[in-house]
Amino acid sequence: MRLDVDRGPHILRAMERFTATLRRIDGRGYKAYKDLRGEYDFGDFTLYIDHVQGDPFAAPSRIAVWVNAAVAGLDERLVQPPARRIATEDYLTRRVAATIGAVCRGGRGSGKSGRVTIDVPGQEVLERTSCLIDKDGVEVRLTVGLPAAGRRVLAREAEAIFCRELPELVRRTLVAEAHDANAMLAQANVIEDQVTLRGLLPELGLVAFVADGAILPRRSGIDDRALTTGAVPFGPVPQTLAVEVDLPHAGRVRGLGVQRGVTLIVGGGYHGKSTLLEALGRGIYNHIGGDGRELVVTSGEAMCVRAEDGRRVEQVGIDTFIGDLPNGVDTRTFSTQRASGSTSQAAAIMEALEGGADTLLIDEDTSASNFLVRDHRMQRLVPRDKEPIRPFVDRVRQLLDERDVSTVMVLGGCSDYFEVADAVVHMDAYRPHDVGARVQEIMAELPATRVRETGAEAVVMRQRIVGRAGLNPQSSRRPGRNKVRAMATRAIRLGDQEIDISLLSQIVDASQTRALADALVFVHDELADGRRTMAEIATALRGLIDDKGLCGYAARRHGDRAAVRALDVVSAINRLRSLTVTPQERD
Ligand code: ADP
Ligand code: MG
Repeated sequence: MRLDVDRGPHILRAMERFTATLRRIDGRGYKAYKDLRGEYDFGDFTLYIDHVQGDPFAAPSRIAVWVNAAVAGLDERLVQPPARRIATEDYLTRRVAATIGAVCRGGRGSGKSGRVTIDVPGQEVLERTSCLIDKDGVEVRLTVGLPAAGRRVLAREAEAIFCRELPELVRRTLVAEAHDANAMLAQANVIEDQVTLRGLLPELGLVAFVADGAILPRRSGIDDRALTTGAVPFGPVPQTLAVEVDLPHAGRVRGLGVQRGVTLIVGGGYHGKSTLLEALGRGIYNHIGGDGRELVVTSGEAMCVRAEDGRRVEQVGIDTFIGDLPNGVDTRTFSTQRASGSTSQAAAIMEALEGGADTLLIDEDTSASNFLVRDHRMQRLVPRDKEPIRPFVDRVRQLLDERDVSTVMVLGGCSDYFEVADAVVHMDAYRPHDVGARVQEIMAELPATRVRETGAEAVVMRQRIVGRAGLNPQSSRRPGRNKVRAMATRAIRLGDQEIDISLLSQIVDASQTRALADALVFVHDELADGRRTMAEIATALRGLIDDKGLCGYAARRHGDRAAVRALDVVSAINRLRSLTVTPQERD
């Protein structure tokens, strides 16, 4: 039964109350719309007007529609366990997004008048605040540009949106009769398989898995959908690198198992190396059916690290990679406002370890070459005591042995990593080959000539206590008020600071940036108490996210937030130019 008949008279009153308010404010100044704030029972759904915009050109008003569980009629398999619920929330968000165009007319006056929107997901299926399902019902959050002529309330247009368009939108997307149960179950299955596969990685000894037949290349740098014309499916994966897994829905799946350890991806230019590594970077997320990367899954704590010259570094212990600098700078607590390529990459690795990363993804294309290796003749020319860098090649196995951190590296031009590799995958015309045995032969024929530049010293990670003041979200121009803004996936304004996150390639959605901005405020308000270290903040955030998900830290009532990892939150904090820390002696 969809409509609770007993609620009939009450519904009438609610609708009447809404339209009566509208008629009363018709033609008045725009601010009069504030009188609409509140909750209205519309029968099939409850309407919430949470926030009313200040004028027709400002960010549109935030509303929510809530449909009770009986009306939404969601099968238990669509809401449990949480991974399936998130898949269904994502599904409904996409359905609403696709239906708005057919149901809502849009332009109904000045500015954003009449525009109805929902936050539209990309290829990833992330936990979002656009749709929230719980045992009581389904809530969908939208924005509406409240209609105006100039700056005067246009009540009739508003009534058309709320009393005709919205009910129609709900009828076509959120009520049980509107659901395509098979499509919804299919999406939940695709997502559950990915979550299961990611969960299986540790017991399989893997850090990533790439299924035979996966489509890795994307349409373009600005279109993340699968390349359709001329895409070479991944595989066939050579038997020596292949792993088979049983998934609850896809059944037995075969693919490349990237083992815990040091894995090299080699091959000629333009043969698909970086594309494979990028797919691994995205494998921390689940993808929608048809994406091509549904069964490309990476450890959730894998981190892309690269050179990022010009960035800020605050008292990071990079002495594992960089010894005494010419100006007498102590690299055990290295700070700079303008890092070089090699110091930025060294800092990024130490910060990733501090944040809890278990896998590093590194592409030669975006690395500082002197950080990766120094060859034999360069070692001869510039002796060790004149070169502060202890290249990554001499540390990568220690990261594995001492810290259980794996590395996957793309290399096209440097063979000195042969000695430290557990597996070598050759990408040849976009297809993987196992060249591990061939690499052994070559090492026997042509022994390495370079000498190791590190001794027996262990990798040292110094803890840093995070100062609260550096995370201040208030602008000095307007004390007492937070000034926090997300700029697509490029930057975040936090108080007087702007954090450049454009090179954090695992932040893929503008809604994640908004959630990240919320998380920074949360860290300032709740976690950076002058005692917690950066590592402890990462752990606390991770625990909170495991426990409460996105709602643990994101601004409530906003419909445009998407989940972001603890690792990426601390990566953003590390790029904050006002960050202050107190280094600790203990490891
Ligand atoms: P590399 O890092 O080896 O130089 P890239 O990964 O950058 O090569 O790939 C080069 C080009 O080939 C890119 O335009 C990419 O989109 C395309 N590409 C990558 N993999 C495939 C594939 N499997 N099928 C078709 N095109 C691909
Ligand atoms: Mg490349």
